[in-house]
Amino acid sequence: MDISYILNDLNDAQREAITAENTHALILAGAGSGKTRVLVHRIAWLTQVMGFSPYNVLAVTFTNKASSEMRGRIESLIGQQAGGLTMGTFHGIAYRLLRQHHQEVGLPQSFQILDSDDQKRVIKRLLKAMELDENQWPHKQIQAFINGEKEEGRRPHHIDIGHNPFVGKMVQVYQAYEEQCQRSGLVDFAELLLRAHELWLKNPQVLAHYQARYKHILVDEFQDTNSLQYAWLRVLAGGSGKLFVVGDDDQSIYGWRGAKVENIRQFEEDFANVKLVRLEQNYRSTGTILKAANALIAHNTTRMGKQLWSDGEDGELIKVYEAFNEYDEARYVCGQVEAWCEQGGSRNEAAVLYRSNAQSRVMEQALMQAQIPYRVYGGLRFYDRAEIKDILSYLRLLINRDDDAAFERAYNHPPRGIGQKTAESIREVAKHNQIPLWQAAEQLVEQGLTARAKTSIANFLGLIESLTEATLGLALEDQMLKVVSRSGLQAHFEKDSSEQGKGRLENIDELINAAGQFKQMQSQTTAEGLPTESQVITDGVDAIAQQDGTLLHTPQYDNPLADFLAQAALEAGEKQADEWESAVQLMTIHAAKGLEFPLVFMIGVEEGLFPSQRSHDDPASLEEERRLAYVGVTRAEKQLMITFANHRRLHGTEIYPQPSRFIKEIPSDCVDLVRLSGSVRPTVAGGYNTGMNASLQAALDAENETGFSAGEAVFHQKFGDGTVVDTEGSGDHARINVNFKNAGSKWLVTAYANLQKK
Ligand code: ATP
Ligand code: MG
Repeated sequence: MDISYILNDLNDAQREAITAENTHALILAGAGSGKTRVLVHRIAWLTQVMGFSPYNVLAVTFTNKASSEMRGRIESLIGQQAGGLTMGTFHGIAYRLLRQHHQEVGLPQSFQILDSDDQKRVIKRLLKAMELDENQWPHKQIQAFINGEKEEGRRPHHIDIGHNPFVGKMVQVYQAYEEQCQRSGLVDFAELLLRAHELWLKNPQVLAHYQARYKHILVDEFQDTNSLQYAWLRVLAGGSGKLFVVGDDDQSIYGWRGAKVENIRQFEEDFANVKLVRLEQNYRSTGTILKAANALIAHNTTRMGKQLWSDGEDGELIKVYEAFNEYDEARYVCGQVEAWCEQGGSRNEAAVLYRSNAQSRVMEQALMQAQIPYRVYGGLRFYDRAEIKDILSYLRLLINRDDDAAFERAYNHPPRGIGQKTAESIREVAKHNQIPLWQAAEQLVEQGLTARAKTSIANFLGLIESLTEATLGLALEDQMLKVVSRSGLQAHFEKDSSEQGKGRLENIDELINAAGQFKQMQSQTTAEGLPTESQVITDGVDAIAQQDGTLLHTPQYDNPLADFLAQAALEAGEKQADEWESAVQLMTIHAAKGLEFPLVFMIGVEEGLFPSQRSHDDPASLEEERRLAYVGVTRAEKQLMITFANHRRLHGTEIYPQPSRFIKEIPSDCVDLVRLSGSVRPTVAGGYNTGMNASLQAALDAENETGFSAGEAVFHQKFGDGTVVDTEGSGDHARINVNFKNAGSKWLVTAYANLQKK
């Protein structure tokens, strides 16, 4: 048997990992060293050489985008023979399991996923019902508390309240929230994982079945698994399943969401005979980019430690562009993309990465003006858009009347005369009787409402009932069309002739398209996070024979609408715009994990933005920010461009940020500092400390036209005595940052400040 197609183009260490005996393995390696490639080839090795059926293999990826890329790589390696393989994100796989085993975990068959926006709404309503003051009990904090506890695998009764009334109250809200979700048949993201874990713990037969099935479990980006995901893997692997995990401690960037990089260390302790393989050669980036990445990450102290090398060319220097403001920054990026294309590159080879989603708007505007097609991943989440959620809420009600979040969204949208007062009475009855809003509304129609309110509610309930009948048995796309028109939403949006209104209608069309495509996708793919018709049949996911020969749970192909809605919630915004069009890709650095692009821009690389303000006083989060910078830098194959602005409007305020420390941590011989040709040039005196980029500092320090320097004592008429901390800019724009003894830190325009030297 010729297996060279599986083993060609691999180095010795990669081959060693791929052909490891039937054992647990940990592949610990830096960015671009071929971890994901090894994982893909390992699957080919197991199925083509070791004789395992794809049915015995489970592969877990971090995002849906990564999952579909991996599926592509596997299919191109072993073609049709990949059928039956289970692949997806933790959430996608958990969803599938819960759908099949909803009875065992106590969920209604039509349960729906509650996304984080809806979760917020549910919590807000609960707070109101519990008469808790939103100022004292911010919903965000409660949301984080609930998700955090779930990610640690804790239900309310597991939490030790001690003598802490604050925690006591939080737990009470958590409890009420759980009851509410259970009543409404809603499952949030963390709950998907928690229930999937409980499925193992509470149903030994189900667990035994999957343990026997998944003989090999492969996990990409292992450094970002949280406690619950790791526990879930451990239980599933049991005594016989073999785990093959790949990861990089330097790319652990989800600590803020409960990911535990310690899982890597723990792994070797929890499992016997773990084969450890380190990969050190990087195949992705030029020598220069790699050198910059290595130097940057070397500033972190908590590392397992590894060095990457490449035998490729040094390539171009990293361009660092100092922009006047965010618009100038965006224009520069557009210009560079155009230049790249003129030199024979294509737009989809370019990615613009940013620290926070809010940064995409200005960039999008500039790209639009320059008529450069672009696609946003993760940010403008299609399924998060109001009009899309409006329609989805009707669809959700069609399959599950108890979905309170959907009821709240749909009952009076478009307006149908159900006033606030009536809505309050519905909520009251629901709360009092512990029943879903739908049932409460039904009860109120029977008794206790004014005639007008009665009619308007009855109309709404009737509409949903008749829509259910009218859409029964229709194709997904046609169901969608019916809902769009008969709900009155289409007419409602058509009334709005503004650009925004038109955009809404376009989005709705896009949703109908998505429904059409979903059908096709279902019959084609087997490797997504969701079950497909053929998979359910061929994989037998999973009829489990009990000892007495009866089936524990008969698998059945669920409502495609339910799957579509779940897919919408799971994938929210990971895909967007026309796939066929060559477009610049915009995304947060978080979303870029695992991906690679020939040309990468990292924009807004400024103190306060990146590293974020919040991380300044916390060494651990600062290190996580630096790992994020490392992830950003190592996405680039050929050319990396980093930009920062002297002036930016952020969250409604004007700021004058300084270049990020991360720029200064890149060795100066890797950098080509591109400066504005105009008059504004920042000067940064002081503040740049050890390990900085000497030539960059020299360039930045070159001109200080303010006439003041850091450390100088000054006096101001109004603010009194102070010390100069920083100076920036020149001419009329020159600014000075002074720390006043009594008035605190202030930025002043030197020309008007009338500062006196002391
Ligand atoms: P990350 O940490 O960013 O997820 P990774 O370690 O998963 O990176 P891959 O994406 O698997 O790295 O590989 C990086 C690039 O190097 C890919 O384009 C891959 O095809 C290529 N590559 C990996 N190993 C080899 C090899 N032995 N020969 C040639 N190219 C390789
Ligand atoms: Mg990878």
